[in-house]
Amino acid sequence: MGKRKFKAESKRLLELMINSIYSQREVFLRELISNASDAIDKIYYKALTDENLTFNQSDYYIKIEADKEARTLKITDTGIGMTQEELEKNLGTIAKSGSLSFKNENEIKDGHDIIGQFGVGFYAAFMVADVVTVVSRALGSEKAFKWESKGTDGYTLEAASKDSVGTEITLKLKANTEDENYDEYLEEYRLKEIVKKYSDFIRYPIKMEVTKSKKDDDSDEYIDYKEEETINSMVPIWKKNKSELSDEDYENFYREKRYGFDKPLKHIHLSVDGTIRYNALLFIPENRPFDYYSQDYEKGLELYSNGVLIMEKCGDLIPDHFSFVKGLVDSEDLSLNISREMLQHDRQLKLIAKNINKKIKQQLINLQRDDREKYEKFFQAFGRQLKFGVYNEFGANKDTLKDLLLFYSSKEKKLVTLAEYVSRMPEDQKYIYYATGDSIDRIDKLPQTELVADKGYEILYFTEEIDEFAIRMLMSYEEKEFKSVSSQDLGIDSEDDKTTEEETTEYKELFEYMKEKLAGKVKEVRLSKRLRSHPVCLTADGEISIEMEKVINAMPD
Ligand code: ADP
Ligand code: MG
Repeated sequence: MGKRKFKAESKRLLELMINSIYSQREVFLRELISNASDAIDKIYYKALTDENLTFNQSDYYIKIEADKEARTLKITDTGIGMTQEELEKNLGTIAKSGSLSFKNENEIKDGHDIIGQFGVGFYAAFMVADVVTVVSRALGSEKAFKWESKGTDGYTLEAASKDSVGTEITLKLKANTEDENYDEYLEEYRLKEIVKKYSDFIRYPIKMEVTKSKKDDDSDEYIDYKEEETINSMVPIWKKNKSELSDEDYENFYREKRYGFDKPLKHIHLSVDGTIRYNALLFIPENRPFDYYSQDYEKGLELYSNGVLIMEKCGDLIPDHFSFVKGLVDSEDLSLNISREMLQHDRQLKLIAKNINKKIKQQLINLQRDDREKYEKFFQAFGRQLKFGVYNEFGANKDTLKDLLLFYSSKEKKLVTLAEYVSRMPEDQKYIYYATGDSIDRIDKLPQTELVADKGYEILYFTEEIDEFAIRMLMSYEEKEFKSVSSQDLGIDSEDDKTTEEETTEYKELFEYMKEKLAGKVKEVRLSKRLRSHPVCLTADGEISIEMEKVINAMPD
């Protein structure tokens, strides 16, 4: 069948792949194992609808074999295999994911376990190998084919023979260089380590021959022997004991699940045994997804029933104000047909959602208390969503959220909580003061802040439009009402602020003149003693601050 060239774009992409997409070479193994697992999953899904096919869990496995002499590493699976066309299509075109097509063609809604979707993982093999040989026999076929490639210049495809259905991938490792030692990928401990790190929860056994030693009964000496062993634990991470898991395990899971390209800022692992039993693994991302505040962003958690995924994005599990949370819920108390009869299980879902809401809040409060720096990082990314949460649904969630809010403080020159603000209030201070503006700098220069600041009162700076809306929904915090520094009555008992009649009459003509000139723009012009270094300031008439009026006026009718 001769030699074929990669498509031109593929060639360039392949070079890019091999040299720069992955920061660590070791992930090649993760990618090949994921593909093997996907291939087995496909038989599993086929068996669900095909009566002639039964799926015996024990028949399916992935195997890793290292040959130190030949310097080859072989990854075998008993999965669905590939036909000649599929080898060509899936491995001959980069960014072509047969797995993604499989999911679409077979309308597998719950096929989330199939990991592949981007169609690039396979080529990671070229980070460590000069030659990659794939021998595959597809399910239902007697024929096998061999695909082989030395990297960027193309591949060959020819008939081959293979006893059983599945795929066998052989990597001829690159020669060692001064900087790189590829031999490590032939070492038992190293291979085990990589599998543990990336592929521990692959649902099928990953087998490898490992060296063991035992005491010889006759000679009393230890002798080495080889034995095939399953090196992954297969149990999903969320079903494991927290004490067995490290931060790294959680991070790897987060990445493997493609919850984000960042690291999780915090993970929440729950095992709840109440009226409804469930396990949950939740993550607060470190960075805000680029589309977070857009229409495209879709909140939701994965919903599993006893380890089987039944819904990819269950929005009902997570309230809008925590829509940034990623992760999954697994409950034995939900039956499998839930995806079709969601309403029947509404009550269970609601219970779980309510519980999760509470747990997330608790964890955020803990984070605020234990690691303020991290909490602030979180707040920079998602604080706006919390403020929307206070405002939305007519304030239904304000009590849940009020203690999670942070605002910049004039006094502390950093973000503070409302509780911190109130705890510092002098006894004679009646209100929680705030000032609105485009930036901290701009607010600093507002004449309106002077009197309040002079009194030694702290001012919260509101730089986002939502701030004032949220605070108005809150109305008060610990019985202290919020007050804009631009409101007419600041509630400050200061003799200074009272203007004498004498003074007012003295400037009466001037004020009348100004009022006339500014007719329609201001309601009144009067003498004020709240100013310190500024000649004039605007105050709001009534409850709405000037900034808020701007926002409201800008709203579409
Ligand atoms: P992805 O896994 O994201 O789809 P890959 O580059 O890893 O992309 O693989 C490309 C395609 O090749 C897969 O989607 C799948 O159709 C096919 N493939 C790769 N490895 C195997 C395998 N071991 N068994 C069957 N098909 C495979
Ligand atoms: Mg893949």
